[in-house]
Amino acid sequence: MLLWRVMNIQSMWKRLGLVLCFVTLPVLSRTQASSPEHWGYDGKDDPKHWSKLNPEYALCGTGHTQSPINITNANKEDLPPLQFNYNAVPLSIVNNGHTVMVNYAPGSTMTVGDTTYALKQFHFHHPSENHINGKKYDLEAHLVHADADGHTAVVAILFKRGDTPSPLLDTLWTNISPEKEKVVEVSSVFIDVKDLLPSSTGYYTYAGSLTTPPCTEGVTWYVFKTPVSISKAQVEAFAKLYKHDNRFIEPTNHRDIRESK
Ligand SMILES: [Zn+2]
Repeated sequence: MLLWRVMNIQSMWKRLGLVLCFVTLPVLSRTQASSPEHWGYDGKDDPKHWSKLNPEYALCGTGHTQSPINITNANKEDLPPLQFNYNAVPLSIVNNGHTVMVNYAPGSTMTVGDTTYALKQFHFHHPSENHINGKKYDLEAHLVHADADGHTAVVAILFKRGDTPSPLLDTLWTNISPEKEKVVEVSSVFIDVKDLLPSSTGYYTYAGSLTTPPCTEGVTWYVFKTPVSISKAQVEAFAKLYKHDNRFIEPTNHRDIRESK
């Protein structure tokens, strides 16, 4: 009974929401921005349930080119190099309830062949989402870019626990607010995402999706072949905030996975 009443009230709110959309859009948008649809990595909100949480998340269940994947049987080809034109920017970092995300000020780009993508933000998953030949890593950074037509390209950096810490991760971790959704702007601290890149920029590439709802497809992935070293303490510091924020491996469905020579 209580459940029925709750459901009824929820559907009433949904109907009311649809009506309100047309009359108070600015107010509603602000409300939605501050309380995103709930999804997570555990229990009933975990990745297996995402497609059922909201009709807009349907692709998380029905898509055929989803990410992450296990990268294996890649075809070695002459692929254009990834050319990075990243600048140092003042630090803007947020613990957004799903991950730690760094907003990147405009002006930094990546060019692949004829396409130039602007860097928008980067964030982290623990353990890694993509696997390489069945192997998962301790942490994965996603550098999210968009070209002028709105196509998304994600550059993925895999981190392996070792003896050498990443100085940039130290700066980031130090400035994370324990308070969720609070954007911390530190104008005196400049960071350069170039400092996260591996020494060798050979990569795997495949067509995939966002790894979080709404799991939008048409995302071009560039995953560095060479992992970057981070310290055990750095992995543990992230794990304290997010024990695991990785989506499960998705079926490859005979997708073409290419590897730069
Ligand atoms: Zn991601």
